[in-house]
Amino acid sequence: MLSLLCIAALGPAGASTAAAQTGPADPFFPRSGNPGYDVSHYDVSLSYQPHSGRLNATAAIEATATQRLRRFALDLDGLNVTGVSVDGAAAGVARGKGKLKVTPHGSLARGEPFTTVVHYQGRPQAVVDPDGSEEGWYRTSDGALGVGEPVGTAAWLPCDNTLADKATFAFEISVPRGLKGVANGRLRSVTRAGSRTVFDWDESEPMDPYLAVVDIGHGRLEHTRPDGIPTWTLVDPRFSTREVLALEALPKIIRFESSIYGPYPFDSAGSIVDETDLGYALETQSRPIYGFAPDLTTIVHETAHQWFGDSVGLRRWPNIWLNEGFATWTEWYYAERHGGRSALQIFRALDRVPASNTKFWDPPSGHPGTAKNLFATSTYVRGGMALEALRMKIGTPEMLKILRRWATVHRYGSADIDQFVALADQVSGRRLEPLFQRWLYERGKP
Ligand SMILES: [Zn+2]
Repeated sequence: MLSLLCIAALGPAGASTAAAQTGPADPFFPRSGNPGYDVSHYDVSLSYQPHSGRLNATAAIEATATQRLRRFALDLDGLNVTGVSVDGAAAGVARGKGKLKVTPHGSLARGEPFTTVVHYQGRPQAVVDPDGSEEGWYRTSDGALGVGEPVGTAAWLPCDNTLADKATFAFEISVPRGLKGVANGRLRSVTRAGSRTVFDWDESEPMDPYLAVVDIGHGRLEHTRPDGIPTWTLVDPRFSTREVLALEALPKIIRFESSIYGPYPFDSAGSIVDETDLGYALETQSRPIYGFAPDLTTIVHETAHQWFGDSVGLRRWPNIWLNEGFATWTEWYYAERHGGRSALQIFRALDRVPASNTKFWDPPSGHPGTAKNLFATSTYVRGGMALEALRMKIGTPEMLKILRRWATVHRYGSADIDQFVALADQVSGRRLEPLFQRWLYERGKP
């Protein structure tokens, strides 16, 4: 994620001087996620009426029981559930706060695969995060946007809304004729059905639910194939071609980041630009969503997340540095390698911010303390500086080797900061724990 606030604080990196839930619940979002099963696939059909804001939907959720299950829960905020079946048999349903509780006809054995089908409808709502930002289902003037970092996806999809229960996704989006419906992954088909158009999308690599996106609205859906990567881009027609010119750099950015981090992790790419006042861009898997006309730096940032955040996911939200610090450092390194200021120059300029500016330096990037600080400036800026400090200590070749190894070893998985520190030690042959301790965990200016 990159918020306009954060972009404003930093300016373009080249120019500015300013500054399956098997373990315990997530410390920041303990109510999200459910024990007892592991989802492998979501097959989601959404039919949306922009005028009324009504959604009519079915989700088929393929999972495996990780323990004997008499009942289980999915995360779902609001909406009316009109029917639930498990393996074709009607199931008992109860609602709790943010939960859909399902009692199958018979209990499920440990290791048993099962498919839950949920029919639901209603007007999905926006979710306000602990930091005041909005996500979930967001109505736009010509459609809607479904986004979920960190826990908003449950506003429009019953899911195991937790980190480390990645699954593949298929989306069938039915919209009034003339509108487009875009999601993650590859566009499989576009079919006309009376007065409506149905768009079929397929995300074939595992994805955390919070990285799912659905965007409905006007625009031209462009399909290209740069470097053999099928790419789909939807831009709200209210943006002029000039305003979104930076999007043309996407193939070049993917090429550059692939050259340093290893092959692009997904089998499709693209961008969604929609007019919202959300004020942020989000690294939705394979196809980031920009709630405003993005500049080059923002696209570099969200594209870096395809490796760091999407392919290599988090295990716990307090480890957000592994996403945002890495994407921020990539902005600086991209600038350095494309005729802008070097990452070291950016580091030195930022390092002039006095220790008295505690809002800049705290909370430490390795633990933001509370969910309210998940996207604090220090998560990004001090987080990027931590990686540049590592580079200063071990040199560029070793630094890039560590990042590439990280993206390779944990491709499509989930990992934590301790694993990164261990990998850095191993690759560099040094004991780097004191450096990480200072940069990631100690309060105040390192
Ligand atoms: Zn980000």
